[in-house]
Parts: sequence; structure tokens; C-alpha cells
Amino acid sequence: IKLIDARFVITAVEPKGYPTGHAAEVAFVGRSNVGKSSMINALTGRKKLVRVSNTPGRTRTLNFFDVELERKGVRHVVRLADLPGYGFAKASKAERAQWETMITTYLEKRHHLEAVVSIVDAEIGPTPEDHLTLDYLQDKGRRVLVVATKIDRIPKARRKPRIQALAQELKLPLEAVLPFSSTEKLGVEEVWESLLGVFGK
Ligand code: GDP
Repeated sequence: IKLIDARFVITAVEPKGYPTGHAAEVAFVGRSNVGKSSMINALTGRKKLVRVSNTPGRTRTLNFFDVELERKGVRHVVRLADLPGYGFAKASKAERAQWETMITTYLEKRHHLEAVVSIVDAEIGPTPEDHLTLDYLQDKGRRVLVVATKIDRIPKARRKPRIQALAQELKLPLEAVLPFSSTEKLGVEEVWESLLGVFGK
């Protein structure tokens, strides 16, 4: 995998604000502070494409990015949709409802959304909200890839069994759960391979 370019496209809240075009799209979901921004930066080879925040839950919009990459001599353009993190403790009830409408509208209406990357913390494992999200995505027939981030916090010898345990807990095949570390840049190739492998299927 060779990254060629990554750029911010647009911020949107409602369908009329979504970017146009037919690039294969991948959405990223996870609770706030799970490491989503860092993951997108790692996957795009950019340090500050997405702002890594110390104030969880600040991103309340859908943010779209275009990534251009090359794999086996073939050029691909993939559009990434960064969805605002959930489980933000300080959010009001109204903010939560607004968030939910924005996310469900996007996930149900976006036709060229090819896959959803659900990010979980490798050490903590799926939270009740992660389970709800995964059940919802499966119910809507979305293709899901679970990426277990911050794997660097787990000793090397325990990483593989940890991923196996996560797959078992989530009732997913082993290849649908990938280890990742933004700090150690682990899993970048594997996540892209997996994503490019499902487009158009
Ligand atoms: P977001 O709220 O989901 O976008 O999470 P961020 O990307 O802003 O990261 C939240 C916190 O986790 C920050 O302090 C990051 O430095 C840290 N973090 C993110 N990814 C990793 C990782 O792979 N390993 C470790 N050890 N820390 C990480």
C-alpha cells in the first residue's frame, strides 16, 4: 500500500451537505477518546489531518476526507467519513438525540457506504455502547470491520489471544477483528488491505 494523498473534503450534518461523487466510502465510529482521530491520521499518513483532542466529544459533525492510494499498481480513491464519537458524558439529552439522528440518517441513507470501521479499545474491550452500535450496524446490513486500537498497551505475547477473545465476544470471524496502534503504527497495511478487499463485493 502506498499513500499518495489525503485531504479534508467537507463537514456536514444533514444529507444535503454530504459530499457528492461516487468514491467508495468507509465510516469510522467509536466512543469518544477511543483513538479514532489518531487512527485516521495513522491510516492517512498525516499527523494532523484530524485533530486529536483532549476534550472528548468536541466533533459534533460528520467530517469527510479523501484518500488516494496505490495497491499493486492500481490507484484507489477512498472517502473516509469520521462520525462523531459516542458516550460523551457531558452531552445533554438534546445533544444526544441530535447526534443519534445525524448518525442513523447517515448510516441508513448513504448508498455508497461500503464498510463501517467500528473502533474498540483493545484493552478495555467493547463497551455496552459498542455492542449496541455493532448490533445496529449488523441489523442494517452494514459490512463491519472491528479495529482494536491501543494494542501497544498489551504485551506482545498477549495480543493474539486478546484479538481472538474479542472476536469470540463479538461473535465475529477472526479476520473481522484487527489489532491496531496509532502510536506504534501497527495495523495500517492490514486495515487498508481489508477495506480495499471488500469494496464492490
Ligand atoms: P478520539 O476522541 O477517538 O478521536 O481519540 P484521539 O485520537 O483523540 O485519542 C484519544 C487519546 O488516546 C489521546 O490521548 C491519544 O494520544 C491516545 N491514543 C490514541 N491512539 C492511541 C494508540 O494507538 N495507543 C495509545 N497508547 N494511545 C493512543
